[in-house]
Amino acid sequence: NRTSDPGEGPSDRSNSRVRNRPWLDEAEKDIPIILDDNKNNCKYQRIRFIGKGGFGICYKIREMATDKTFAAKVIAKKMLTKVTLKKALKREIEIHRPLTHKHVVGFHNSFEDMKNIYIILEYCSSRSLLDLQIKRHTLTVPECRYFIYEVLQGVLFLHQRKIIHRDLKPGNIFLNDQLHIKIGDFGLATKFNAKDDRTQTFCGTPNYMAPEMMSARGHSFKADIWSIGCMLYTLLVGTPPFDGAVVENTYTNIRSCYYKIPLSVHEEAASLIKMAVQRSPGRRPSVDKMLKHEFIHSSFRPISLPRCCFYTSPKIN
Ligand code: ADP
Repeated sequence: NRTSDPGEGPSDRSNSRVRNRPWLDEAEKDIPIILDDNKNNCKYQRIRFIGKGGFGICYKIREMATDKTFAAKVIAKKMLTKVTLKKALKREIEIHRPLTHKHVVGFHNSFEDMKNIYIILEYCSSRSLLDLQIKRHTLTVPECRYFIYEVLQGVLFLHQRKIIHRDLKPGNIFLNDQLHIKIGDFGLATKFNAKDDRTQTFCGTPNYMAPEMMSARGHSFKADIWSIGCMLYTLLVGTPPFDGAVVENTYTNIRSCYYKIPLSVHEEAASLIKMAVQRSPGRRPSVDKMLKHEFIHSSFRPISLPRCCFYTSPKIN
């Protein structure tokens, strides 16, 4: 149905997840219709199921006092059996909570009851770049320029705050009703702490120190740059650059940085991909440098996209 909201109904990939995660069906029985943050006297009404993730279930919800719409990620406490998982979720919340930027999923609230942990997030009604890419297979060059520019703006904000996302992929780039991007899922994110940097705390002679000891941490931001390059490739080509027939092949391709850019790919886009997706992190550009690349700024970049993008290439003049 071309006129319907792309956000209505469970997402394509969620349907397969629903089949594969019976324990989440079990957990769903313990999720109340009204999510009650009794400490802050905030109540949220469940509106509809959005999808299931690795650990939690996501719902569209309504804050009852304000009538505002949000997304709730609900994680059953019994799923967090290992201490490491509990710590990881706490860390995800700590990192995400203070982040306020137009291209980062807004963090509204988090609370718990006896059975679940609830994370209340900005609602992204048009799903993710993954859903868009699955529907369209490839996007036009101006669309890619638009999306990658917004991703770079969001990642610039994160890197300026010393946050490395470490899991940038189309499924974690959410889209709001106006098709603006919102970076989400901070489950693997980390805060770079210069004080932890071995080069800063190291007291002995550096004469025998291997180069990766000096730069590994400082270069860890460059993991996000690699991922952005891979995303640009995927949006233009329709498949990820290192995709192998089996997952082992994908790993081998990544390790040896073996990928080919089809000749049909826009020349400036190919140049940006080559800069970002190279083996040596030190050689990959910073976000700032990517933003200055000719692919981003030398040709037309839309400032908004119509919602029909979900079904067809937009007519961009
Ligand atoms: P995972 O990261 O394991 O894929 P999530 O729990 O993040 O799973 O997401 C589960 C489902 O909820 C997915 O379909 C995702 O697109 C959707 N979702 C997650 N966050 C939001 C949000 N802020 N707004 C709308 N949908 C969301």
